Amino acid sequence: ENAIEIRGLSKTYAGRGGSGPVAALKGLDLDIPKGSIFGLLGPNGAGKSTTINILAGLVNKSAGSVRIWGFDQDVNPRQSRAAIGVVPQELNIDPFFTPRALLDVQAGLYGVRRRDRRTDEVLAAVGLADKADAYARSLSGGMQRRLLIAKALVHSPQVLVLDEPTAGVDISLRRMLWAYVRELQERGTTVILTTHYLEEAEEMCDRIGIISKGELVACDDTQTLLRRL
Ligand code: ADP
Ligand code: ADP
Repeated sequence: ENAIEIRGLSKTYAGRGGSGPVAALKGLDLDIPKGSIFGLLGPNGAGKSTTINILAGLVNKSAGSVRIWGFDQDVNPRQSRAAIGVVPQELNIDPFFTPRALLDVQAGLYGVRRRDRRTDEVLAAVGLADKADAYARSLSGGMQRRLLIAKALVHSPQVLVLDEPTAGVDISLRRMLWAYVRELQERGTTVILTTHYLEEAEEMCDRIGIISKGELVACDDTQTLLRRL
C-alpha cells in the first residue's frame, strides 16, 4: 500500500524577470510505500522542492493528481493536508516566537484539540524540552532545525517530508537527525526526504527515486538501485 501516489504531475512556473515559463515537473509518476524512508534524489533544479511543495499544498500543480494516504488532494484537501507534515529547507522561524508558542499556533491551525496537544512530548523528542519558552532568536541553527521538525509533527501526520534536512549541517547534527528519522519510522511514520547527497540516501533510505529535469528517471529499493549506478 502506498502513502503517496503521484500521477502525471506537471508544474510550469510563469518565469521570473522576463525569462520564459519554466517546466519544473513534466508528468511525474511516483509511488511511495507506507512505512518506508524514501529518498527523492536529483541534481539542483531537478524539481525536488517543487514536488515537496505540491505535496505540502504550498504550490499549485499545473496538471496531474496527488493522493496522500488515500486522499486525493483535489477531492479531499483537508484530509490529505492533515496526513502530511513538511519540514522546510529554510530556517524560517519568527525570532520572537518561542517553541511553545510556535507549536501552539501550529496545533491551532490543524485543529488539534488542547487535550490532544503533546507540546512537551514533541519538544522532548527533538531535544528541546528545556528551550520551550526561549525566544527562537536565541536558538542555534541546529536547534531551529529540530524545532521545525517538532512543528511538522504537531498534528501527528502519517507522512513526514524533510526538504534537504542535512544541507549545510555538521556531522553530529546530521547523525542526530538520521537517528531521529529512524525512530519515527519505527513508530510507523512514512518519511520522505530530498537530498542531493547519494551517501545520505544510501545510509538512510529503503527506497530511492531519482528525478532529473522534472521526470522520474529511476526508482527502486536502495540496494538494487545502487548496484545499477
Ligand atoms: P530542486 O529542488 O530539485 O533543486 P526545484 O523544484 O527547486 O528543484 O526547481 C525546479 C525548476 O523550477 C528549476 O529550474 C527552478 O529554477 C524552477 N523554479 C523553482 N521555483 C520557481 C519559482 N517560484 N518561479 C520560477 N521558477 C522556479
Ligand atoms: P547545535 O549546536 O544545536 O547543533 P549549531 O548552531 O551548531 O547548532 O548548528 C548546527 C547545524 O545547523 C550546523 O551544522 C549549521 O550548519 C546548521 N545551521 C546553522 N544555522 C543555519 C542556518 N541559518 N540555515 C541552515 N542551517 C544552519
